[in-house]
Amino acid sequence: MVTMDLATLLGDLRAAHLDTGQAISPGLTRRLAARHGLIPAVLGTHSEVLDLGRKARLHNAKQRLAMFITQHGTCAVQTCDRPAATAQAAHLIAWQHGGHTNLTHGALLCSRHHTLADHPDYRIEHLRPGRIHIHRRQ
Ligand SMILES: [Zn+2]
Repeated sequence: MVTMDLATLLGDLRAAHLDTGQAISPGLTRRLAARHGLIPAVLGTHSEVLDLGRKARLHNAKQRLAMFITQHGTCAVQTCDRPAATAQAAHLIAWQHGGHTNLTHGALLCSRHHTLADHPDYRIEHLRPGRIHIHRRQ
């Protein structure tokens, strides 16, 4: 998977990024898109399809893809650069506490931060879509 904004796709000279976090040139990005097909994902709106409420406990593949793009390919924790490709889809409000399976309350977290997010001694602060901070409770 390659992540890029519309300006890059249309010819801007900024790099795109693979799901491993590696930057690739706009030219290579366009060649890959032409050779293997391009599946665009548009962000910035809320989609009913991506909100499963409490009908399903686990996030589906489309939700994981949307989280991946929103988080720019890394763990959702602001200071963590571990690749989201190996992260776990987590409920930021625990399922057993009434959390919903949606994008607002879901995030891809590396195993270390998933463990902290579920620990009762820590709390989650939402910074912006796709970015959180995990604090130790005082
Ligand atoms: Zn992390």
